[in-house]
Amino acid sequence: MRYIEPHGHMVSRTTDDYQDMVTAGCAAVCEPAFWAGFDRSSVNGFHDYFCQLTDYEPKRAAKFGLPHFSWLCINPKESEDVALATDVIGLIPKFLDRPNVLGIGEIGLNKNSRNEMKVLEMHADLAARHDQLILVHTPHLEDKLKGTRLILDVLRSDKRIRPERCIIDHVEEHTIQLVLDAGFWAGMTLYPESKCSPARAVDMLDLYSHERIWMNSACDWGVSIPLAVPRTALEMKRRGWPADLIDKVIYRNPIQFLSQCPKFKLP
Ligand SMILES: [Zn+2]
Repeated sequence: MRYIEPHGHMVSRTTDDYQDMVTAGCAAVCEPAFWAGFDRSSVNGFHDYFCQLTDYEPKRAAKFGLPHFSWLCINPKESEDVALATDVIGLIPKFLDRPNVLGIGEIGLNKNSRNEMKVLEMHADLAARHDQLILVHTPHLEDKLKGTRLILDVLRSDKRIRPERCIIDHVEEHTIQLVLDAGFWAGMTLYPESKCSPARAVDMLDLYSHERIWMNSACDWGVSIPLAVPRTALEMKRRGWPADLIDKVIYRNPIQFLSQCPKFKLP
């Protein structure tokens, strides 16, 4: 089996996780900027985090032969402070030329607040000005549908942004069709406790589409499984999916999306 982990928060994982992923067939990992489990106290905390994502973590992954890519932003949970978000967004351009940076993400909404919307628009503008791919986080709360609609409205209202260059992550049964119909890519996040189980993910693939879709494990500091993607591939196999179609969903689809950034290259 070969697969891409397109959304894994590796700074919170151990070297054993890297070893397991490579052993299972992981060919590249992509790490969006996110919440650290606590609010950072200043813009300097983000500067250090961006250095970690673009310098230290790729080196750690390389020790296991795994190409590491990253996405940069201030995540929705910390973007309630618009002044801080403005400073952090001001920092990002000088990191965009780093060789492993694929785009702006994971941006989006958490509580669908007015300030989060404002910061989402600022990120969309940043991505458009620098011709960057976009990775979007949708709320995990009960207002996922409302949040997804708001996010799609923001992205569609900026005519510089092309939907095929944006992935809307953490889709569920009630948001996947909305995202795909609008021309965006959709990401399914596999989680043991919340979000989407492997069985639910394969149900969605059976019901909706295997085009413009990827699966990821998120594998952050919470309860999560770094091998969720290959485990879901086993569930697909168990249900009789042909090997070529499994390979498309877990390997060729993410490569198709990510290759829109010329820096995404596998050895
Ligand atoms: Zn994430």
